[in-house]
Amino acid sequence: MSSAPASPRPARLPASAGEGPPLTPTGLPAAAADLVLLRRCAGCGRHGPELCPACLDELAAAPRRCGPRRTPGCPPCWTLTGYGGTGRSVVLALKERGRHRLAAPMGRALAHAVRAALAATGASAPAEPGRPPRRAAGVATVRLVPVPPRLGARLRRGYDPVGAMAAEAARALSADGRTAMAAPALRHRRPGRDQVGLDARARHANLHGALAVRGRWRARLAGRPVLLVDDVATSGATLAEAARALRAAGADVRAAITFAVA
Ligand SMILES: [Zn+2]
Repeated sequence: MSSAPASPRPARLPASAGEGPPLTPTGLPAAAADLVLLRRCAGCGRHGPELCPACLDELAAAPRRCGPRRTPGCPPCWTLTGYGGTGRSVVLALKERGRHRLAAPMGRALAHAVRAALAATGASAPAEPGRPPRRAAGVATVRLVPVPPRLGARLRRGYDPVGAMAAEAARALSADGRTAMAAPALRHRRPGRDQVGLDARARHANLHGALAVRGRWRARLAGRPVLLVDDVATSGATLAEAARALRAAGADVRAAITFAVA
């Protein structure tokens, strides 16, 4: 997959000192050209923000339970959307087209699925209605554990899309008055094959024992409720392996939250 930016940037003409910002061949300052000419919604393709309000609303409107899936050990899963149409376009733009800025609106959308899971699992109490955001005593911290990218994918992309989404979701939940944090606690123990094209049994065999909790996180997660975060749920094998590793470290895996379900 290419890690090149989704939209080619116009060649910028050199600007002389003191003449203001560099101009594009259209005569627009470069930053304005980015905004006006190049940036398109990753969902619908219209000119505008990374994810336009209509697409954001469509994705965030109806978080739903989507599991457990076929794989034993996969925690109950909540998701925002199916892996088609807008959901697929947005996930692919974040992961494969270099549009790392999408992590912010996607993380805010993901927070809606986290809230649905929290309400169903009791992993954390919400802020009291009508009260200003505050950090209520006794409210469990929401720990969002992103499924880590394989090293090759991380190097190819230059960023961690799921980790960035989890961090943004934690920020959105903190604005509710919850105590929320991203907990990038998992690591790959071996390279592993790409899961694409493998059936459920082959995915399980490929993944079993592939993930572990980083040493510095073990004490911080032992006995604590955690929520897994990933971009797309397919067979549930990756989520099951992530849950296995977290449970082996003593964490209480309440649910998995994914942006989309295939
Ligand atoms: Zn849109």
